[in-house]
Amino acid sequence: MKHFDIIIVGGGFCGLIAAKQLAQKLADKSIALIEPRNEFEYTPGIIKLITNKNYAPNIALSYASVLKRTVIFHEHAKFLKQGKIITNKNSYSYKFALICSGASTPCSLKGKNVFVLKSLADAKKIAKALPNAKSVVIAGGGLVGVEVAGELCTKTDKKVTIVEPDTRLLSRNPESVSHKADRFLKHKGCIIVYGQRVVELNKGIVFTNLGTRIHADIVIWCAGIGVDTVLKGTSYVNERGCIIVDEHLRVKGLTNVFAGGDITNVAEEKTAQAAEAHAKIVIQNIIRTVLHKSLKKYTSHSKGLVISMGDWNGLFVQKQFCLSGFIPSLMKKMIEIWILRKMRA
Ligand SMILES: Cc1cc2nc3c(=O)[nH]c(=O)nc-3n(C[C@H](O)[C@H](O)[C@H](O)COP(=O)(O)OP(=O)(O)OC[C@H]3O[C@@H](n4cnc5c(N)ncnc54)[C@H](O)[C@@H]3O)c2cc1C
Repeated sequence: MKHFDIIIVGGGFCGLIAAKQLAQKLADKSIALIEPRNEFEYTPGIIKLITNKNYAPNIALSYASVLKRTVIFHEHAKFLKQGKIITNKNSYSYKFALICSGASTPCSLKGKNVFVLKSLADAKKIAKALPNAKSVVIAGGGLVGVEVAGELCTKTDKKVTIVEPDTRLLSRNPESVSHKADRFLKHKGCIIVYGQRVVELNKGIVFTNLGTRIHADIVIWCAGIGVDTVLKGTSYVNERGCIIVDEHLRVKGLTNVFAGGDITNVAEEKTAQAAEAHAKIVIQNIIRTVLHKSLKKYTSHSKGLVISMGDWNGLFVQKQFCLSGFIPSLMKKMIEIWILRKMRA
């Protein structure tokens, strides 16, 4: 069995940043990344891909090109047990482990016209189906649902309907933000059905739980969060499957195992920004453990959320403050360029 000083499971926002910085800061330690994909995908950018297939190279980075000193195994991690990580192909032992394999979007509808949007491959499937669709139903009016609606309503002539179970869009944000998104999308022709959820798609008709029928050539599922971790079925995960961490982002009850990003039970909005902040704390805490120093605590604080609705409109939200219009969409683009440049460096 191969042994590494540090093993990182999942090379998304949390994992890639941790792998890069740990390799720089702990030059004498062996580091491995277990990640099934060949490329890091900048998820906030994949929405652009549904209307522009050529956007993919802008938001994908090959792991081999950015992680020079890390050993990369393109495998699926399955379990973490008794100091070992077991994948679909091998077992590895570690001194420190970081679990950051993200979350999925569990979809209760089945059928070839139902799509989730979590990866570049998902976005490409939607882009392929879109030209043959006249009507699109988006299940869920959170961050992803609103951005998808904005993209479709500003760049295509599709009939777009959002079905949102809450009484407003972006419901974890202040009401003024919801109103701005609602007003903009309706102005662009989007229909929004509040207080209902999509329960069935049958012969081109979406049915909601209250019996509303909506024509839909395709459904894009943008609701909910599901977690499937190497610790599933153990007492280290909560009832939703999220890994239970302490204030240092250590898995509660396990020595030298940390978790970060969407997979954790930290009560905050699940964002790339939060995953990056987790990575920074875990990096420090691995180094501090090596040096026998006391560990840093993670405190959640948002630098603000940027939501795009097409190329020329968006929202920037910071606590109760909300800016709408062109500047947030420009900010979104600048953040994309800046983060990808940082990942490449
Ligand atoms: C369409 C979309 C748009 C978004 N837009 C924004 C936005 O504008 N701003 C924002 O802040 N956030 C946004 N988010 C949320 C953001 O992408 C996530 O919060 C962030 O990616 C979480 O980072 P992570 O490191 O926890 O996981 P991820 O970035 O999801 O990375 C997880 C990695 O683990 C790998 N993996 C999965 N299973 C295994 C396994 N068994 N073994 C090994 N590796 C595995 C995956 O291949 C992946 O590379 C968006 C999300 C989506 C889906």
